[in-house]
Amino acid sequence: MYIREIELVNFRNYRKLKLDFAKDYNLIYGRNAQGKTNILEAIFLCSAGRSHRTSKDNELIRFNEEGYYVNLTVERRDGEKNIEILYKRNEKKRIKINGVSISRNGQLMGQLNTVLFSPEDLSLVKGGPAERRRFLDIAISQIKPSYFYDLQQYSKILTQRNALLKEIGSRSSGSEKLKDTLEIWNENLAETGSRIILERSIYLSELSKKAYGWHNLLTGQKEKIEVIYCPSIDISKCNGVNEIKAKFLEYLNDEIEKEIRSGMTMYGPQRDDVELKINGKSVKMYASQGQQRTAALTLKLSETELLKEIIGEYPVLLLDDVFSELDAFRKDYILASLENMQTFITSTENHLLLNTLKNSSVNKNVKTYMVENGTVSEEKM
Ligand code: ATP
Ligand code: MG
Repeated sequence: MYIREIELVNFRNYRKLKLDFAKDYNLIYGRNAQGKTNILEAIFLCSAGRSHRTSKDNELIRFNEEGYYVNLTVERRDGEKNIEILYKRNEKKRIKINGVSISRNGQLMGQLNTVLFSPEDLSLVKGGPAERRRFLDIAISQIKPSYFYDLQQYSKILTQRNALLKEIGSRSSGSEKLKDTLEIWNENLAETGSRIILERSIYLSELSKKAYGWHNLLTGQKEKIEVIYCPSIDISKCNGVNEIKAKFLEYLNDEIEKEIRSGMTMYGPQRDDVELKINGKSVKMYASQGQQRTAALTLKLSETELLKEIIGEYPVLLLDDVFSELDAFRKDYILASLENMQTFITSTENHLLLNTLKNSSVNKNVKTYMVENGTVSEEKM
């Protein structure tokens, strides 16, 4: 799929912007703080329903304005999709697909598939488990809208169950009766949670295979990467969703006193993690800066391959400031491998990038944009 055009009104530092994109490569360059990432952010917003940098839509509104508007058209194998997002300060975001309003954000999932790699993605490797769960959740939601609904549902159940645990723990009398009501929450939690765990485990086992190939190539066959799912409950002997659910319930029942004391649900997808290893050693603990960066990029590139397999076409790849971090070998290899995938690349310098691209992409459709303080000019090659 590829994005044909985008229009922004009062979005970040853009008052009004309209761009027609190239089918293959779009290079967006300019000095720091001119608005390069803001363009990728608007694209990502149309794909995920939220920014990758903030959960507050108010921040996306151009200073001193009342709202923003984004209009994007993507060409997919099955036809054209037009996505409009209109947001007025402190109101509910309004989203239309092909002119028809949608009532739930989940309906946006899978309309425009993107994979974004930004400098902050190093936290995928270096950061805490929540960062890796977020990566998983966004990746799986794009291919499976039902997963997105399960996540929302799970989070509600979890909040209510935690409140109940706290309530039971704080009571000196009458807690037995309340304790009985926990059973229904355990059931709900395990029902939804087991589906999430199963999806994560399937996704990661596939991702792991792709990552192995990518990382091997990016490092000239020197490094072997492993991507390992570490759920908070032991599912190694479980076959299928029902067995996971039973196991989950076992944990909840066995550890109930501990949970009441801490006032918190201690098992389930909210405690999952993913471990990365290079040549058998933990990436988080032992890998160099460059290795970590490559590992994070490997995950994202693998994500594009999986999307391609599952939805039948490549997503749009958004590479924010990635090439400045990589050596020539890795850079060339990546560019040469991005076959048939519309790619947006931001950079503070364009010449090096253009040369590499010219060598590796004969017959490719390329556009170059120079960004300066919220205005964009297309440069003729
Ligand atoms: P870098 O190369 O440093 O990553 P960039 O070109 O990617 O820079 P962006 O993050 O796209 O920069 O844009 C940053 C600019 O946008 C800053 O100058 C910032 O002040 C401005 N900006 C951010 N939010 C808003 C907003 N809501 N209204 C107006 N301007 C904004
Ligand atoms: Mg930027």
